[in-house]
Amino acid sequence: MACYIIARVTPNPFPHLLAPLDLGFTTLPNRVLMGSMHTGLEDRAEDFPKLAAFFAERARGGVGLIVTGGIAPNAAGWTKPFAGTLSGRRHLARHRLVTGAVHAEGGRICMQILHTGRYAYHPLAVAPSRLKAPIAPFAPRELSDAGVGRQVTAFVRSAVLAREAGYDGVEVMGSEGYFINQFLATRTNRRVDRWGGSWANRMRLPLEIVSRTRAAIGPDFILIYRLSMLDLVEGGSDWAEIVELARAVEGAGATIINTGIGWHEARIPTIATMVPRAAFAWVTRKLKGAVGIPLVTSNRINDPAVAERLLAAGDADLVSMARPLLADPDFVVKAASGRVDEINTCIACNQACLDLVFENSVATCLVNPRAGRETELVYRPVAAPKRIAVVGAGPAGLACAAVAGRRGHRVTLFEAAGEIGGQFNMAKRIPGKEEFHETLRYFRRELELAGVEVRLGTSATAVDLASGAFDHVVLATGVRPRVPDIPGLQNARVLSYVDVLLRGAQVGRSVAIIGAGGIGFDVAEFLSHDATRAATSLDIPAFMREWGIDMTLTARGGLVTASEPGSPREIWLLQRKPTPPGRDLGKTTGWIHRLTLKRRGVRMLAGVAYERIDDSGLTISQGGETRLLAVDSIVVCAGQEPQRGLVAALEASGLSPHLIGGSNIAAELDAQRAIADGARLAADL
Ligand code: FAD
Ligand code: NAP
Ligand code: SF4
Repeated sequence: MACYIIARVTPNPFPHLLAPLDLGFTTLPNRVLMGSMHTGLEDRAEDFPKLAAFFAERARGGVGLIVTGGIAPNAAGWTKPFAGTLSGRRHLARHRLVTGAVHAEGGRICMQILHTGRYAYHPLAVAPSRLKAPIAPFAPRELSDAGVGRQVTAFVRSAVLAREAGYDGVEVMGSEGYFINQFLATRTNRRVDRWGGSWANRMRLPLEIVSRTRAAIGPDFILIYRLSMLDLVEGGSDWAEIVELARAVEGAGATIINTGIGWHEARIPTIATMVPRAAFAWVTRKLKGAVGIPLVTSNRINDPAVAERLLAAGDADLVSMARPLLADPDFVVKAASGRVDEINTCIACNQACLDLVFENSVATCLVNPRAGRETELVYRPVAAPKRIAVVGAGPAGLACAAVAGRRGHRVTLFEAAGEIGGQFNMAKRIPGKEEFHETLRYFRRELELAGVEVRLGTSATAVDLASGAFDHVVLATGVRPRVPDIPGLQNARVLSYVDVLLRGAQVGRSVAIIGAGGIGFDVAEFLSHDATRAATSLDIPAFMREWGIDMTLTARGGLVTASEPGSPREIWLLQRKPTPPGRDLGKTTGWIHRLTLKRRGVRMLAGVAYERIDDSGLTISQGGETRLLAVDSIVVCAGQEPQRGLVAALEASGLSPHLIGGSNIAAELDAQRAIADGARLAADL
């Protein structure tokens, strides 16, 4: 594989990460496991060629072992109706496309067998007991004794078929609150038969599955068991049970144990960007020594140096990364060849991967629009380079300039500010969004590698662009903040979010924020954070205290009382719509933002009309009542308008510019669209 070839000629920068792992019957080339992640390409036979291309690209990039997204062993275990399944020989051909493509690149791939139990989004859901999950629409049917046995048989049959389909192994999904986990915890298992009651009875299901699977697949097939080491729900397992289960799973024939953190219904963030890097490695560490088989640690590991540190410290034997390999399929080969600064780092935003999957769309990646689109978005080298001007080095312009330059075009990038990044230079200042720095580091390096001429501090004019003999002019000039029509807006206490986040304007002890969109929420986060303390996203013990996670692992489910963080300011977050503020934030992260601000005492008001601003503060009316918010500062976060002042002048000069990102359409703009716009245009030029 590529990483070996390069490792031979350059000193190995990550000796633990790149060390082979001997499993007895096979040897993995390194310690990177691509963790299971649903892409949405698993569900329809016609999408499997795309899934094969997606995994082949990751295998080519040097990943040690890939695990597919969850594949159901039967219809009851579907995530949603007709989700990806391996339950009969009729499914084999599509799976062989995936295994063949990965093996052709020298990779290895396991299929995850996922039975959703009560998390199913369909009426065929089954579970140990008839208890509806708070995050699912259907109450499951309680299984009979024979019914439980049929689910075990389905797991085993699926594993046997996986072997026939050419997989190198299977991962039995035993965590995150899915079917197997539901048997383990008294929270969801109220049975009194041999599958419930005592701990020995509750762990019977995973042990039956693992031992019968091992017996059916033979000794030389990888069997990973994903074990919930920290449930983060009331009525979850305690540590003694987890250790006992791990030992029993090893005894039943597992090859590797992978770490699962938190049930999906837990109200504690476990993978989002405000979670510190490698926040939960200490949990895997605690299990080290209790079992003899390799352990995988997981969650928010997105950097080779962090992975190396965990492995060198003996916290685990492998590291799992799922989203970081969406963001950069060449993560391993870049790490192996000393090109860490070229890694396109996953910023853990969830916006283009998990959020899209929850909307029933195919996952992609905010920082890498090719993810999941490998066959459609191809960056081909150009035979006849053109001269291209890109105006604006925000996410849209950066992506366009970098991709066009990499293809061989001669690109000049104009940026009015003294640094690249556009609005990301504000986003990166929000506590919990430190990862946004990485995207700017990546693009800075890409521009160098692509040979793009970057002109900072240069506000491009139509004259510059017309006289530059460019074949194409791309306007990526972004947006400007909307100025709402509110009497008294000129008052000195009124600031824009740009004043606060970029220009360092002083903000008083009491603040009203006008607009509760993504930026309003981020500004509330920024202003409610105690600036004398590091963000909890940079401090693992502080994060655990903030969210009530028991680092001693003595409490059942790992839960203790959360500390109340408080806010140095009194804050009102306002919007005109009557709907709950923050309802339109990301599906998998919005709840975290809402809960964080609520716990800091931020008051969120909906259905507000802004009457006036004067020296007393902001007067609003709500539900027929008028009231004064006697605040020191008012920060306007009322959305944005496209900035395209250059268009008319360019057209008058006979140039027809391409518009991308916010300068094209400001409504519902986010960085995912901006970067995808830029990359797609650059692929076509
Ligand atoms: P911009 O980022 O606005 O960049 C435009 C650039 O063009 C600017 O650098 C500007 O200086 C330059 N420019 C303008 N005119 C000229 C000229 N004539 N000559 C040279 N240069 C010029 N999005 C998400 O998806 N997820 C998030 O979590 C997120 N968080 C955010 C948090 C904050 C606090 C803010 C403010 C925004 C956030 N966004 C987020 C939004 C995201 O940053 C924007 O959608 C994205 O930056 C838009 O990219 P763009 O390239 O179209 O425009
Ligand atoms: P936004 O999400 O569209 O929110 C704009 C806010 O301003 C809304 O609350 C809106 O609510 C209010 N508003 C609109 N017109 C107004 C007017 N004339 N007067 C007063 N209030 C008005 O836009 P944004 O917050 O500026 O964010 C910009 C983009 O960046 C968004 O697309 C967002 O997705 C992205 N972003 C994402 C994140 C993230 O974490 N994913 C974070 C930050 C930004 P009412 O109309 O009800 O008052
Ligand atoms: Fe990571 Fe965001 Fe890309 Fe998902 S969309 S892989 S969280 S950067």
